[in-house]
Amino acid sequence: MELRISHGCPSCGAPVEMKEADRLTDCAFCDVQNYLVDSGLQRYALPSKDTRRRADHGALYFPYLRFKGNIFSCQGLQISHKVLDTTYRGLSAPLLPPSLGVRPQAMKVQMVDATLGGRYFRRKETAVAILQRAASTVKASGTVEDGPLYHRSFIGETVSCIYLPLVVEDGIVYDGVLDRQIGPAEPWMIDTSISVPFQPQWQPSFLATICPQCGATMRGERDSLVLHCDNCQTCWSEKGRKFVPVPYQVVPGTASDLVYLPFWRIGVETRGIEMRTMGDLLRVTNQPVVVNSAHRERGLEFWIPAVKLRPTAFLKLARSATLSQLKFPEGERRLARPLHPVTLPLKEATQALKSLVAEMTVRKKEVLPQLPQLSFGVRQTSLVFLPFEDTGHDLVQIHASLAVPSSVVRFGRKL
Ligand SMILES: [Zn+2]
Ligand SMILES: [Zn+2]
Repeated sequence: MELRISHGCPSCGAPVEMKEADRLTDCAFCDVQNYLVDSGLQRYALPSKDTRRRADHGALYFPYLRFKGNIFSCQGLQISHKVLDTTYRGLSAPLLPPSLGVRPQAMKVQMVDATLGGRYFRRKETAVAILQRAASTVKASGTVEDGPLYHRSFIGETVSCIYLPLVVEDGIVYDGVLDRQIGPAEPWMIDTSISVPFQPQWQPSFLATICPQCGATMRGERDSLVLHCDNCQTCWSEKGRKFVPVPYQVVPGTASDLVYLPFWRIGVETRGIEMRTMGDLLRVTNQPVVVNSAHRERGLEFWIPAVKLRPTAFLKLARSATLSQLKFPEGERRLARPLHPVTLPLKEATQALKSLVAEMTVRKKEVLPQLPQLSFGVRQTSLVFLPFEDTGHDLVQIHASLAVPSSVVRFGRKL
């Protein structure tokens, strides 16, 4: 499910609509794009009907935590993954539904900001607890065989907080969205020690899309995590509320219908399982290839798709790009090409490394039990755009034997 979010344009205040994965606002009134800063936990509210503004205590916002993302786990000799999208009550309140179900999907949510007013109940559940709860549902669903849990990771996940508006009037509590009676108000609902007014640090913040190096306007698609400056041929991503340069290369291609898919190229050193070069990776994971001097000279590097994809397609593409890395020619720093937006942050790509080693490994019995000891130190990172020919059905890489169905890449932008 993809949330539709309404908020005010940061430049002119006109109402604008974003999708959950969007980072850039598009304002039809002032035509200025702004970039939404990653706040860690985004806060949204379900829209409330206006009919009960006479409420004794103003609107009360009850928190639900939402988890959306991919869970990879490696239990026994089985590697499994699941796409999960669910909401959980952020504190115990039996009167209220344990989850919001499909409601956030059916309506436009509002970005919580200072204009909303009301009071917000403090969450008891932490985002970490929600992740653990989400992971336990994977096990409960019976998709994982028994055996020791060697590894688990969350990739491309978002945890957000969605508030359900409640209204207490004459001792009755109402669902503020449906304007429907829930039941008699309980004492905690008007206990102001467990709720707070809007907190200034919750205010969504935006950056102007001005290139820090040359002052030109940067461009990007709405869901791009990396913005491009065509004027000085640079790429930028947001970190700590400012744009920082992203080293990149574009590997040129010559076929007619080209799409350039981004990959995070992550150079690492490992502890726990000793791997320093590509040759070591081939040996440890028992790849059916003869390790040659080129493999031994290439430092250990993983090539992870910088796009959100379904888990199986994601791991498959990461595996084949990593194994094919010596086949790709050197790239250049020139942006004017059909570059697919980066939709998976580098941090999330790094979280996939262990799952990728598990997936690549041929002799699982020997390697999987060592996974808990395996850790990675990142040496260097950059972004590489690889040319893929769009055959209509598949995107086929033109230097190596890797392909991904076009529909999977398109669908990934909704994940
Ligand atoms: Zn505007
Ligand atoms: Zn520039």
